[in-house]
Amino acid sequence: MFQVNSNYLKLKAGYLFPEISRRVNAFTSSHPNISLIRLGIGDVTEPLPNACREAMKAAIDEMGTKDGFHGYGPEQGYSWLRETIAKEDFHSRGCEVNADEIFVSDGSKCDSSNILDILDRKNKIAVTDPVYPVYVDSNVMSGNTGELDKLGQYGGLIYLPITADNGFEAKIPDEKVDLIYLCFPNNPTGAVATKIQLKRWVDFAKRSNALILFDAAYEAFIQDKELPHSIYEIEGARECAIEFRSFSKKAGFTGVRCAYTIVPKTLYGGSNAGNKVDLWGLWNRRQSTKFNGVNYIVQRGAEAVYSNEGKREIANLVGFYMENASIIRRELLSAGLTVYGGEHAPYVWIKTPKGTDSWEFFDQLLQKANVVGTPGSGFGSAGEGYFRLSAFNSRENVLMAMKKIASI
Ligand SMILES: *Cc1c(COP(=O)(O)O)cnc(C)c1O
Repeated sequence: MFQVNSNYLKLKAGYLFPEISRRVNAFTSSHPNISLIRLGIGDVTEPLPNACREAMKAAIDEMGTKDGFHGYGPEQGYSWLRETIAKEDFHSRGCEVNADEIFVSDGSKCDSSNILDILDRKNKIAVTDPVYPVYVDSNVMSGNTGELDKLGQYGGLIYLPITADNGFEAKIPDEKVDLIYLCFPNNPTGAVATKIQLKRWVDFAKRSNALILFDAAYEAFIQDKELPHSIYEIEGARECAIEFRSFSKKAGFTGVRCAYTIVPKTLYGGSNAGNKVDLWGLWNRRQSTKFNGVNYIVQRGAEAVYSNEGKREIANLVGFYMENASIIRRELLSAGLTVYGGEHAPYVWIKTPKGTDSWEFFDQLLQKANVVGTPGSGFGSAGEGYFRLSAFNSRENVLMAMKKIASI
C-alpha cells in the first residue's frame, strides 16, 4: 500500500475554529432570533480600494488585446511591482532591499509555510506561545516535530511564552536555536516591537547563526513613527532574516491574494557538505520550480496600492480599523477589563477576569453579549486566560458589540 505523510496525523485535530463553530451553532439554534456580532476571525470586512479595482479592470481589458495580453509572468513577480515595493516600502524607510530580493507571491501564509522547503529538518525551531498556528502546523507537516503532548505542544519545538508577565516580549532562548519565527505587530496579542527589541533578536541570530522568519503582515497598522516596520531597519538583519509581507490586511486583499517575501542576497546557511549556501538562490529555485507567479491583473492591483489615490485609500482603510481597535480598547477598559494590543495592530488581547478561563469567557460573551471572539488558549497554552477581539468589522457592529459587553 502506498504511504501517506504520517506527519499530518500528528496535527491537533482542527480544534479552535471548529469548536467555536460548534458552540456558535448550538447557541443560534436555541436562540434563533438573536443575531451575533463576529469579532473572531482575522479577515477584513471593508471593500477593496477603488485604485486597486480600477487598475485590475484596466489590466483585464489589456489582457483582451493582442499587444496587452500576458501569459506566464516571471515566477518572482513583475519587475515594475518589485521595484515599486523596494522604493515605497523599504528605501523610503532607509532599508537596503533590492527589487530582485523581493519575491511576489499569492500569500504570506503560503510563503511562511513553503520556506521550510529550503531548510533542513534538523534545525532547532523556536516559536512564541501564543502563536499564529501556521508556523507550528507547517513544521508538523514537514516532519520537523515530534508528537503533541498533553499541554498541546509538539515535541522538538521550543516554545517561548509571551504573556503580560514579560510584556509580551519573548525571552531570548538560552538553548541552541536555528530558526525563530517572529511576528510584529503580533497576531494574536497585538504587541509591537521597538527597534531595541528587534536588535536583540538580530544580535542573537547573528551570534548563533540562526535565521529569523519575520512576519510583518500587520506593519501598516503601526501608528507610532518611531517603531520599525521592517526587520531590515535593524543593522545586521540582511545577514539573518527573511521577511514576509502581505497586501491582505492593509489593502483588503485577503480574497484577491497578493503578498511578497524578502530574501536578501547576503543570507547564507550551511549545507550537509559544510559549505555556505545562499538562501536567495535556493528560494529562487524553489519558486521557479513550484510556482508560476501571481496573475498579472492582481499584480497591477497591488501596484495601485502605491499610487497617490491608493495610498490615500489605504491610509483611510487602516485608520478605520484602528479607530475600531481604539473604540474596543476604550470601551473594554471602561468596563473594567485589562486589555493589551489594539494600538499598533487590529487585535485587542483581553485578560479574562480572574477565575474565568478563555473558553468560559468565550461562552459568557456569546451568551450574554452575543459577541463571538477567539479564546486565547486556541493560540497556545500560554494564551490561556486571554481572549482576542478583532477590529475587522463595521463601525456599527463594533459599537453594538461594545454596548452589549458593557451591559453584562
Ligand atoms: C493574515 C495573516 C497573514 C497574511 O496571510 P496571507 O496568506 O497573505 O493572506 C500572515 N501572517 C499573519 C500572522 C496573519 O495574521
